[in-house]
Amino acid sequence: MLRDASTTARPPDDAGQRRVLAALAVLADVIHVVTLVYFWHHGSGRVTQAASSLAITLLLTGLVLWPAFPLRRLQHIVVGMVCALFVLNLVSVYQTGRPITSGLLIHAVILALFAYTWLPPRVATVVLGSSYAVLAGAATVSRAPDVPGVLLVGLTLPLVWYLTVHGREVSRERGRSDALHTLAYRDPLTGAHNRRAGSDVLGALLDGPEPGGEVAVALFDLDHFKQINDTLGHQQGDRMLVAVAESLTHSFGQSGTVVRWGGEEFLVILPGVPRPRARALVDAALDAVRAMHLSGLPAMTISAGLAYASETRDPVALLDLADGRLYQAKAAGRDRAR
Ligand code: GH3
Ligand code: MG
Ligand code: MG
Repeated sequence: MLRDASTTARPPDDAGQRRVLAALAVLADVIHVVTLVYFWHHGSGRVTQAASSLAITLLLTGLVLWPAFPLRRLQHIVVGMVCALFVLNLVSVYQTGRPITSGLLIHAVILALFAYTWLPPRVATVVLGSSYAVLAGAATVSRAPDVPGVLLVGLTLPLVWYLTVHGREVSRERGRSDALHTLAYRDPLTGAHNRRAGSDVLGALLDGPEPGGEVAVALFDLDHFKQINDTLGHQQGDRMLVAVAESLTHSFGQSGTVVRWGGEEFLVILPGVPRPRARALVDAALDAVRAMHLSGLPAMTISAGLAYASETRDPVALLDLADGRLYQAKAAGRDRAR
Protein backbone atom coordinates (compact mmCIF):
# COMPACT_ATOMS: atom_id res chain seq x y z
CA MET A 1 0.00 0.00 0.00
CA LEU A 2 2.75 2.45 -0.93
CA ARG A 3 1.21 5.89 -0.90
CA ASP A 4 1.72 7.55 -4.27
CA ALA A 5 4.51 10.14 -4.00
CA SER A 6 2.27 12.71 -5.69
CA THR A 7 -0.16 12.56 -2.78
CA THR A 8 2.55 13.67 -0.39
CA ALA A 9 3.69 16.51 -2.69
CA ARG A 10 2.22 19.90 -1.87
CA PRO A 11 -1.00 20.15 -3.88
CA PRO A 12 -1.55 23.15 -6.15
CA ASP A 13 -2.85 25.84 -3.83
CA ASP A 14 -6.47 25.96 -5.06
CA ALA A 15 -7.74 27.09 -1.66
CA GLY A 16 -5.31 30.03 -1.74
CA GLN A 17 -6.45 31.04 -5.24
CA ARG A 18 -10.07 30.78 -4.16
CA ARG A 19 -9.41 33.07 -1.20
CA VAL A 20 -7.76 35.66 -3.47
CA LEU A 21 -10.70 35.42 -5.87
CA ALA A 22 -13.18 35.83 -3.00
CA ALA A 23 -11.34 38.93 -1.76
CA LEU A 24 -11.31 40.38 -5.31
CA ALA A 25 -15.01 39.61 -5.78
CA VAL A 26 -15.94 41.31 -2.50
CA LEU A 27 -13.78 44.31 -3.45
CA ALA A 28 -15.54 44.47 -6.84
CA ASP A 29 -18.92 44.39 -5.03
CA VAL A 30 -17.89 47.27 -2.79
CA ILE A 31 -16.60 49.31 -5.75
CA HIS A 32 -19.82 48.71 -7.70
CA VAL A 33 -21.99 49.66 -4.71
CA VAL A 34 -20.03 52.91 -4.31
CA THR A 35 -20.27 53.57 -8.08
CA LEU A 36 -24.02 52.92 -8.03
CA VAL A 37 -24.55 55.27 -5.08
CA TYR A 38 -22.38 57.90 -6.79
CA PHE A 39 -24.39 57.74 -10.05
CA TRP A 40 -27.67 57.72 -8.12
CA HIS A 41 -26.65 60.73 -6.08
CA HIS A 42 -25.60 62.69 -9.20
CA GLY A 43 -28.70 61.66 -11.14
CA SER A 44 -26.51 60.07 -13.81
CA GLY A 45 -28.09 58.14 -16.67
CA ARG A 46 -25.67 55.26 -15.99
CA VAL A 47 -27.49 53.99 -12.88
CA THR A 48 -28.95 50.97 -14.74
CA GLN A 49 -25.54 50.06 -16.12
CA ALA A 50 -23.97 50.28 -12.63
CA ALA A 51 -26.82 48.22 -11.15
CA SER A 52 -26.34 45.44 -13.74
CA SER A 53 -22.57 45.44 -13.10
CA LEU A 54 -23.25 45.08 -9.37
CA ALA A 55 -25.69 42.22 -10.00
CA ILE A 56 -23.03 40.43 -12.06
CA THR A 57 -20.28 40.85 -9.46
CA LEU A 58 -22.68 39.71 -6.70
CA LEU A 59 -23.43 36.58 -8.74
CA LEU A 60 -19.68 36.01 -9.15
CA THR A 61 -19.12 36.42 -5.40
CA GLY A 62 -21.75 33.75 -4.81
CA LEU A 63 -19.98 31.36 -7.21
CA VAL A 64 -16.57 32.05 -5.64
CA LEU A 65 -17.94 31.34 -2.15
CA TRP A 66 -19.55 28.09 -3.32
CA PRO A 67 -16.76 25.58 -2.55
CA ALA A 68 -18.12 22.86 -4.88
CA PHE A 69 -17.91 25.11 -7.94
CA PRO A 70 -14.79 24.13 -9.95
CA LEU A 71 -12.05 26.77 -9.76
CA ARG A 72 -11.07 26.57 -13.43
CA ARG A 73 -14.64 27.08 -14.62
CA LEU A 74 -14.93 29.99 -12.23
CA GLN A 75 -11.82 31.61 -13.71
CA HIS A 76 -13.21 31.25 -17.23
CA ILE A 77 -16.52 32.76 -16.12
CA VAL A 78 -14.69 35.72 -14.54
CA VAL A 79 -12.79 36.37 -17.81
CA GLY A 80 -16.04 36.00 -19.79
CA MET A 81 -17.90 38.42 -17.53
CA VAL A 82 -15.14 41.05 -17.45
CA CYS A 83 -14.99 40.79 -21.25
CA ALA A 84 -18.78 41.03 -21.60
CA LEU A 85 -18.93 44.12 -19.33
CA PHE A 86 -16.11 45.74 -21.32
CA VAL A 87 -17.88 45.14 -24.63
CA LEU A 88 -21.20 46.40 -23.19
CA ASN A 89 -19.45 49.62 -22.16
CA LEU A 90 -18.02 49.98 -25.66
CA VAL A 91 -21.47 49.41 -27.19
CA SER A 92 -22.74 52.36 -25.15
CA VAL A 93 -19.88 54.44 -26.64
CA TYR A 94 -20.97 53.38 -30.16
CA GLN A 95 -24.61 54.21 -29.34
CA THR A 96 -24.16 57.55 -27.59
CA GLY A 97 -20.71 58.74 -28.67
CA ARG A 98 -19.88 59.21 -24.97
CA PRO A 99 -16.26 59.83 -23.95
CA ILE A 100 -13.74 57.02 -23.61
CA THR A 101 -13.09 57.32 -19.89
CA SER A 102 -10.01 56.28 -17.91
CA GLY A 103 -12.29 53.70 -16.22
CA LEU A 104 -12.88 52.06 -19.59
CA LEU A 105 -9.14 51.94 -20.35
CA ILE A 106 -8.38 50.44 -16.91
CA HIS A 107 -11.12 47.89 -17.61
CA ALA A 108 -9.16 46.83 -20.73
CA VAL A 109 -6.01 46.32 -18.64
CA ILE A 110 -7.91 44.31 -16.00
CA LEU A 111 -9.33 42.12 -18.77
CA ALA A 112 -5.79 41.55 -20.07
CA LEU A 113 -4.54 40.56 -16.60
CA PHE A 114 -7.34 38.06 -16.03
CA ALA A 115 -7.21 36.65 -19.57
CA TYR A 116 -3.43 36.09 -19.66
CA THR A 117 -3.45 34.64 -16.12
CA TRP A 118 -6.25 32.13 -16.65
CA LEU A 119 -6.68 31.40 -20.35
CA PRO A 120 -4.24 29.64 -22.68
CA PRO A 121 -2.01 32.47 -24.04
CA ARG A 122 -3.26 32.07 -27.63
CA VAL A 123 -6.94 32.22 -26.63
CA ALA A 124 -6.18 35.25 -24.43
CA THR A 125 -4.43 36.99 -27.35
CA VAL A 126 -7.45 36.40 -29.63
CA VAL A 127 -9.87 37.70 -26.94
CA LEU A 128 -7.75 40.78 -26.23
CA GLY A 129 -6.96 41.48 -29.90
CA SER A 130 -10.67 41.51 -30.75
CA SER A 131 -11.56 43.58 -27.66
CA TYR A 132 -8.85 46.12 -28.52
CA ALA A 133 -10.12 46.35 -32.10
CA VAL A 134 -13.61 47.14 -30.74
CA LEU A 135 -12.07 49.76 -28.39
CA ALA A 136 -10.15 51.37 -31.27
CA GLY A 137 -13.37 51.39 -33.33
CA ALA A 138 -15.24 53.05 -30.42
CA ALA A 139 -12.52 55.73 -30.28
CA THR A 140 -13.39 56.74 -33.85
CA VAL A 141 -17.02 57.50 -32.90
CA SER A 142 -16.49 58.90 -29.40
CA ARG A 143 -16.72 62.69 -28.93
CA ALA A 144 -13.77 62.49 -26.47
CA PRO A 145 -11.75 59.50 -27.67
CA ASP A 146 -8.60 59.89 -25.47
CA VAL A 147 -6.41 58.67 -28.33
CA PRO A 148 -3.14 58.68 -26.28
CA GLY A 149 -4.87 56.58 -23.59
CA VAL A 150 -6.14 54.07 -26.17
CA LEU A 151 -2.65 53.82 -27.71
CA LEU A 152 -1.07 53.38 -24.27
CA VAL A 153 -3.44 50.45 -23.59
CA GLY A 154 -2.21 48.96 -26.88
CA LEU A 155 1.33 49.11 -25.47
CA THR A 156 0.27 47.69 -22.10
CA LEU A 157 -1.28 44.49 -23.55
CA PRO A 158 2.01 42.89 -24.76
CA LEU A 159 3.62 43.96 -21.49
CA VAL A 160 0.90 42.17 -19.49
CA TRP A 161 1.34 39.15 -21.80
CA TYR A 162 5.10 39.05 -21.10
CA LEU A 163 4.78 39.47 -17.32
CA THR A 164 1.98 36.95 -16.83
CA VAL A 165 3.56 34.29 -19.05
CA HIS A 166 6.82 34.75 -17.13
CA GLY A 167 4.88 34.60 -13.81
CA ARG A 168 3.19 31.37 -14.86
CA GLU A 169 6.59 29.81 -15.63
CA VAL A 170 7.92 30.87 -12.24
CA SER A 171 4.99 29.33 -10.35
CA ARG A 172 5.24 26.13 -12.46
CA GLU A 173 8.92 25.86 -11.55
CA ARG A 174 8.12 26.47 -7.89
CA GLY A 175 5.54 23.66 -7.95
CA ARG A 176 8.10 21.34 -9.58
CA SER A 177 10.76 22.25 -7.03
CA ASP A 178 8.28 21.64 -4.16
CA ALA A 179 7.47 18.21 -5.60
CA LEU A 180 11.18 17.34 -5.89
CA HIS A 181 11.77 18.55 -2.33
CA THR A 182 8.98 16.25 -1.14
CA LEU A 183 10.47 13.32 -3.03
CA ALA A 184 13.89 14.00 -1.52
CA TYR A 185 12.87 14.65 2.08
CA ARG A 186 9.63 12.78 2.78
CA ASP A 187 8.99 9.10 3.35
CA PRO A 188 6.65 7.97 0.54
CA LEU A 189 4.69 5.51 2.72
CA THR A 190 3.93 7.58 5.80
CA GLY A 191 4.53 11.15 4.62
CA ALA A 192 6.81 11.68 7.66
CA HIS A 193 10.26 13.24 7.19
CA ASN A 194 12.74 10.69 5.88
CA ARG A 195 16.12 9.84 7.36
CA ARG A 196 17.93 12.38 5.15
CA ALA A 197 15.65 15.19 6.35
CA GLY A 198 15.99 14.03 9.98
CA SER A 199 19.81 13.95 9.77
CA ASP A 200 19.83 17.47 8.26
CA VAL A 201 17.53 18.85 10.97
CA LEU A 202 19.48 17.21 13.78
CA GLY A 203 22.86 18.20 12.31
CA ALA A 204 21.76 21.84 11.98
CA LEU A 205 20.45 21.89 15.57
CA LEU A 206 23.58 20.37 17.10
CA ASP A 207 26.02 22.24 14.92
CA GLY A 208 27.38 25.60 16.02
CA PRO A 209 29.53 26.91 18.82
CA GLU A 210 26.80 27.77 21.35
CA PRO A 211 24.18 25.27 22.41
CA GLY A 212 20.90 27.02 21.63
CA GLY A 213 18.83 25.53 24.48
CA GLU A 214 18.04 21.87 25.11
CA VAL A 215 17.40 19.52 22.17
CA ALA A 216 15.73 16.22 22.97
CA VAL A 217 15.59 13.24 20.64
CA ALA A 218 13.26 10.27 21.10
CA LEU A 219 13.76 7.04 19.19
CA PHE A 220 10.54 5.01 18.92
CA ASP A 221 10.22 1.37 17.90
CA LEU A 222 6.94 -0.51 17.53
CA ASP A 223 6.57 -3.48 19.85
CA HIS A 224 6.33 -6.94 18.27
CA PHE A 225 5.54 -5.34 14.94
CA LYS A 226 6.85 -8.31 13.02
CA GLN A 227 3.87 -10.31 14.29
CA ILE A 228 1.50 -8.03 12.34
CA ASN A 229 3.36 -8.74 9.12
CA ASP A 230 3.61 -12.44 9.89
CA THR A 231 -0.03 -12.93 10.85
CA LEU A 232 -1.91 -10.31 8.78
CA GLY A 233 0.46 -9.54 5.92
CA HIS A 234 2.67 -6.62 4.86
CA GLN A 235 -0.21 -4.46 3.66
CA GLN A 236 -1.75 -4.43 7.12
CA GLY A 237 1.73 -3.75 8.55
CA ASP A 238 1.98 -0.74 6.23
CA ARG A 239 -1.45 0.49 7.38
CA MET A 240 -0.25 0.32 10.96
CA LEU A 241 2.94 2.27 10.11
CA VAL A 242 0.93 5.03 8.41
CA ALA A 243 -1.41 5.28 11.42
CA VAL A 244 1.47 5.38 13.92
CA ALA A 245 3.21 8.14 11.92
CA GLU A 246 -0.03 10.14 11.94
CA SER A 247 -0.47 9.57 15.66
CA LEU A 248 3.09 10.71 16.45
CA THR A 249 2.73 13.75 14.21
CA HIS A 250 -0.48 14.64 16.02
CA SER A 251 1.02 14.02 19.48
CA PHE A 252 4.08 16.22 18.94
CA GLY A 253 2.43 18.88 16.79
CA GLN A 254 4.64 21.93 16.32
CA SER A 255 6.99 20.84 19.13
CA GLY A 256 8.76 18.07 17.24
CA THR A 257 9.89 16.84 13.83
CA VAL A 258 8.71 13.28 13.21
CA VAL A 259 11.11 11.21 11.11
CA ARG A 260 10.73 7.69 9.80
CA TRP A 261 14.22 6.61 10.79
CA GLY A 262 14.01 3.05 9.43
CA GLY A 263 11.47 0.20 9.00
CA GLU A 264 9.26 0.55 12.09
CA GLU A 265 11.46 3.04 13.91
CA PHE A 266 10.61 6.72 14.23
CA LEU A 267 12.86 9.51 15.50
CA VAL A 268 11.31 12.63 16.98
CA ILE A 269 13.51 15.71 17.30
CA LEU A 270 12.37 18.24 19.90
CA PRO A 271 14.29 21.52 19.78
CA GLY A 272 14.07 23.96 22.68
CA VAL A 273 12.01 21.57 24.80
CA PRO A 274 13.12 21.14 28.46
CA ARG A 275 13.62 17.57 29.71
CA PRO A 276 10.39 17.24 31.77
CA ARG A 277 8.30 18.56 28.89
CA ALA A 278 10.01 16.20 26.40
CA ARG A 279 9.36 13.28 28.71
CA ALA A 280 5.70 14.27 29.14
CA LEU A 281 5.22 14.57 25.35
CA VAL A 282 6.79 11.15 24.77
CA ASP A 283 4.57 9.57 27.47
CA ALA A 284 1.51 11.17 25.84
CA ALA A 285 2.62 9.82 22.44
CA LEU A 286 2.88 6.32 23.92
CA ASP A 287 -0.65 6.69 25.35
CA ALA A 288 -1.96 7.83 21.95
CA VAL A 289 -0.48 4.82 20.12
CA ARG A 290 -1.88 2.50 22.78
CA ALA A 291 -5.33 4.05 22.31
CA MET A 292 -5.37 3.68 18.50
CA HIS A 293 -8.23 1.61 17.03
CA LEU A 294 -7.74 0.38 13.49
CA SER A 295 -10.34 -1.93 11.97
CA GLY A 296 -8.98 -5.43 11.47
CA LEU A 297 -5.76 -4.70 13.38
CA PRO A 298 -4.87 -5.53 16.98
CA ALA A 299 -3.93 -2.88 19.55
CA MET A 300 -0.33 -1.73 19.24
CA THR A 301 2.24 -0.43 21.68
CA ILE A 302 5.51 1.38 21.12
CA SER A 303 8.70 1.86 23.15
CA ALA A 304 10.97 4.90 23.24
CA GLY A 305 14.46 5.94 24.25
CA LEU A 306 15.19 9.59 25.05
CA ALA A 307 18.49 11.45 24.91
CA TYR A 308 19.42 15.12 25.25
CA ALA A 309 21.89 17.39 23.53
CA SER A 310 23.11 18.54 26.95
CA GLU A 311 24.57 14.99 27.28
CA THR A 312 26.43 15.14 23.98
CA ARG A 313 26.29 17.38 20.91
CA ASP A 314 27.65 14.67 18.65
CA PRO A 315 24.68 13.40 16.58
CA VAL A 316 25.97 9.83 16.33
CA ALA A 317 26.67 9.60 20.07
CA LEU A 318 23.29 11.20 20.84
CA LEU A 319 21.43 8.65 18.73
CA ASP A 320 23.48 5.86 20.30
CA LEU A 321 22.33 7.06 23.72
CA ALA A 322 18.68 7.12 22.59
CA ASP A 323 19.08 3.67 21.00
CA GLY A 324 20.60 2.25 24.22
CA ARG A 325 17.65 3.58 26.25
CA LEU A 326 15.18 2.22 23.70
CA TYR A 327 16.83 -1.17 24.19
CA GLN A 328 16.40 -0.75 27.98
CA ALA A 329 12.71 0.08 27.49
CA LYS A 330 12.27 -3.08 25.41
CA ALA A 331 14.14 -5.17 27.98
CA ALA A 332 12.01 -3.75 30.80
CA GLY A 333 8.83 -5.07 29.13
CA ARG A 334 8.14 -2.63 26.20
CA ASP A 335 5.31 -0.05 26.03
CA ARG A 336 7.38 2.47 27.99
CA ALA A 337 9.99 5.19 27.61
CA ARG A 338 13.49 5.32 29.12
P1 GH3 B 1 10.42 -5.53 18.99
O1 GH3 B 1 9.31 -5.32 19.97
O2 GH3 B 1 11.60 -6.19 19.64
O3 GH3 B 1 10.80 -4.30 18.30
O4 GH3 B 1 9.89 -6.57 17.93
P2 GH3 B 1 9.59 -6.30 16.42
O5 GH3 B 1 8.85 -7.47 15.90
O6 GH3 B 1 8.92 -5.01 16.23
O7 GH3 B 1 11.04 -6.10 15.84
P3 GH3 B 1 11.77 -6.58 14.59
O8 GH3 B 1 12.92 -5.65 14.37
O9 GH3 B 1 12.08 -8.04 14.74
O10 GH3 B 1 10.75 -6.40 13.40
C1 GH3 B 1 10.64 -5.27 12.66
C2 GH3 B 1 9.82 -5.62 11.46
O11 GH3 B 1 9.46 -4.44 10.74
C3 GH3 B 1 10.55 -6.49 10.48
C4 GH3 B 1 10.21 -5.92 9.13
O12 GH3 B 1 9.67 -6.88 8.28
C5 GH3 B 1 9.16 -4.89 9.43
N1 GH3 B 1 9.20 -3.77 8.53
C6 GH3 B 1 10.22 -2.89 8.30
N2 GH3 B 1 9.85 -1.99 7.37
C7 GH3 B 1 8.57 -2.27 7.02
C8 GH3 B 1 7.64 -1.69 6.10
O13 GH3 B 1 7.90 -0.71 5.42
N3 GH3 B 1 6.42 -2.26 6.00
C9 GH3 B 1 6.08 -3.36 6.76
N4 GH3 B 1 4.86 -3.86 6.61
N5 GH3 B 1 6.94 -3.93 7.59
C10 GH3 B 1 8.17 -3.40 7.73
MG1 MG C 1 13.05 -2.29 14.98
MG1 MG D 1 9.98 -3.26 16.74
